[in-house]
Amino acid sequence: MKNKNLKALTLPELKAFLTSLGMKQYRANQVYQWLYQKGADSFDDMTNLSKEERHTLNEKACISNLILVKRQTASDGTEKYLFELEDGNRIESVLIPDEDRLTLCISTQVGCAMGCKFCLTGKGGLKRNLEAYEIVDQVIAVRRLLNKRITNIVLMGMGEPLANYDNTISALRILLNEKALNFSNRKVTLSTAGLIPQIDKLGKEGITVNLAISLNATTDDVRNKIMPINKKYPIKELIAACKRFPLPKRRRITFEYVMLKSINDTKEDAERLCRLLKGIPCKVNLIPFNEYQGCEFKKPDEEAIERFREILIDHHIMAITRKSKGADILAACGQLRGETINNP
Ligand code: SAH
Ligand code: SF4
Repeated sequence: MKNKNLKALTLPELKAFLTSLGMKQYRANQVYQWLYQKGADSFDDMTNLSKEERHTLNEKACISNLILVKRQTASDGTEKYLFELEDGNRIESVLIPDEDRLTLCISTQVGCAMGCKFCLTGKGGLKRNLEAYEIVDQVIAVRRLLNKRITNIVLMGMGEPLANYDNTISALRILLNEKALNFSNRKVTLSTAGLIPQIDKLGKEGITVNLAISLNATTDDVRNKIMPINKKYPIKELIAACKRFPLPKRRRITFEYVMLKSINDTKEDAERLCRLLKGIPCKVNLIPFNEYQGCEFKKPDEEAIERFREILIDHHIMAITRKSKGADILAACGQLRGETINNP
């Protein structure tokens, strides 16, 4: 029988498993801390367990680990990590240093089924969902490589987190749990293409994280063309879901808006965007389209982006233009593909 991966268990399950091996219940808390707080990759490291207990665990259990295949550093300090999973599939995570923040962008699926026209991840389709431990292991693996603290986590890598709902929620619970990775819920952001039923469900889940919505267009006509999911969940209904989302006090929803030249970058778009967002505590991230080889879109000129931003500001909407990070190693937004296209 295959050894049990302890990171695939919740704390209560871990308690049950360890007791079934004849260990005391309180050992589960110790093991849990080793796994997540200290990121142990071997039972031999767990020095507060007895020698016999370590031996039993070596016989019956295992600790999952991602295999680092490649680590690339961009000229701006952004790092991209290519990891291999147990079944040989590959995923990417991106570390983005920015003033006093160190943000890790993690994947939730191998590929993505949403098929957004501007996104390289979407081009290859969905291979499979990541398990909760595979989502969390990205954080543990990168942390192990650094001597600095990761301050923020964004679920903006490969995949649509809300299309892998249960595993994403389990992973978030581990990221936020003070006995596990202990991130503040203010520092964790989930980004979605707009799966309305799951946004509603997330609002009732009893966990708080920052919500980011990839809006990317202001009319259904344009959004249908660039984000097929819009045919199922059109803009008006998506905005209504954002309005009813139970936002904690002083929190805002982030709207991401990939700027595509002559597609969604006009003055009329900016004005429509203001009308759509009216009454929602929010901020807008304008993301200049990151071009890649063979892509059908262009990035608007800087002046066009700035004009767009000023219209939002004039309407008292907080708006920033996101600097493209790591573009020279294809680590920028929407450029992740787990190297499956060239290296099948
Ligand atoms: N699937 C989720 C999270 C991952 S995508 C989502 O879509 O929200 C993260 C962000 O990258 C999204 O806002 C998406 O619109 C943006 N993006 C995708 N491809 C891009 C590209 N080529 N240039 C700039 N941003 C891109
Ligand atoms: Fe998937 Fe997000 Fe890319 Fe759309 S933008 S294809 S939802 S990863």
